[in-house]
Amino acid sequence: MKSFDVIVIGAGVIGSSVAYHLAKKGLEVALIEKGGVASGTSSRCDAVALICDKKPGIDTEIGYASIQLFKQLAKEFSVDFEFASRGSLYVCETEKELEIAKGYVSQQAKDGYDMRMVDSRELKEIEPYLADDLAGGIWTEVDSSMNPYKLCYAFVEEGKKLGLKVYDYHAVQDITLDAKGRVESVVTDQGTLKTKRIVNCAGVWSPKIAEMVGVHIPIKPRKGMVLISEKTPFKVASQKVHEFGYMLSKFEDIQFKRNVSELVEKHNVAFTIEPTDAHNFLVGGHRAFKGYDIRSEIEVIRAIAERAIRFLPVLKEINCIRAYAGVRPWVEDHLPIVSEVEEVPGFFIASGHEGDGISMSPITGRMVAQLITGEPTDFNIDKLNFSRYQNKKAVSL
Ligand SMILES: Cc1cc2nc3c(=O)[nH]c(=O)nc-3n(C[C@H](O)[C@H](O)[C@H](O)COP(=O)(O)OP(=O)(O)OC[C@H]3O[C@@H](n4cnc5c(N)ncnc54)[C@H](O)[C@@H]3O)c2cc1C
Repeated sequence: MKSFDVIVIGAGVIGSSVAYHLAKKGLEVALIEKGGVASGTSSRCDAVALICDKKPGIDTEIGYASIQLFKQLAKEFSVDFEFASRGSLYVCETEKELEIAKGYVSQQAKDGYDMRMVDSRELKEIEPYLADDLAGGIWTEVDSSMNPYKLCYAFVEEGKKLGLKVYDYHAVQDITLDAKGRVESVVTDQGTLKTKRIVNCAGVWSPKIAEMVGVHIPIKPRKGMVLISEKTPFKVASQKVHEFGYMLSKFEDIQFKRNVSELVEKHNVAFTIEPTDAHNFLVGGHRAFKGYDIRSEIEVIRAIAERAIRFLPVLKEINCIRAYAGVRPWVEDHLPIVSEVEEVPGFFIASGHEGDGISMSPITGRMVAQLITGEPTDFNIDKLNFSRYQNKKAVSL
């Protein structure tokens, strides 16, 4: 039976990064994936690494550190994952939103982040196609973008150079523990691999992997739909642009009601647009709990289009060529789980990144590698420890 220092389950952006960072530490690592690399949520998402959509504190700290790592990896990796530091623009529709945004920006600026308010005139200078009646917005210099699909392959290909073994099209069916309850092996549909350490990076499926060792992870799939525009001869938007209401659709505890249509409200839609290197645009955003269902929904497509045209009227003239949906691994406190599980020695979790998995992939991989090799982590990650969920039961889907 083949044996590895560490087995990583799931070759999405988190598992690929974790596997790469572990291989970089000189460990013998296997990455097991039931489909192809990036066949889960990491190829059904948008493409940005932001700090402007993070809460002040550890959420932003990790997001910022991850962008710094992206810059380094973009120079080191031979696979180009289309990393670009373009900045991002939050748009406030009303004076009321602008007031809330000012409070947020002053906290982030106090913590040392390069984020500032822009008035309605500057808004139009940055993005000339925006509607004329918007109140202002937030400019965040550090925010960046990349191609998530290529990013997964970049981690995997760089990992392979360091000895990483990839078992794609191998579905994990069981995990065995030894007599003392420690991790012993991973059983796949094509054979068994021996190891003393497993990292569960199976995204929305990580609760199913954890059940194999009797652990309940309260991750829930949170659906999001994206529309792809045709290629345009001019730039509708030069960087990520989204409405400040996006924060309201992401964080359930922010109490603010937008003046939107019933359709937009019903589907929890908040406008976002991102340019791609291929000159198409990704238009969103949407959040809903619908289990693992990733079928496109015509009503949601209408709601996304309605909201997008409100902010960028020029989009009325541009065709949408396709749509897709993915499911974010949501946890209720919006912080990922990056931790060993105390009751099952050798069983680690790196999951629950909701809408930030692409953004936080480099730092997550780095921190898991630090945890496993016993080095101090870059941050105090007590808040990411699984123990915060120890007494909670599995969530209903
Ligand atoms: C619409 C949308 C837009 C988004 N936009 C952004 C964005 O702009 N920026 C950002 O940072 N994040 C964004 N996200 C969130 C981001 O996509 C996720 O947080 C991230 O992809 C999660 O990565 P993961 O590796 O944890 O999960 P996944 O990519 O789902 O990887 C998990 C892998 O585990 C595999 N697996 C499952 N079960 C098994 C098994 N039994 N055996 C073997 N393998 C198994 C799956 O096949 C899958 O490939 C968005 C998400 C959505 C839905």
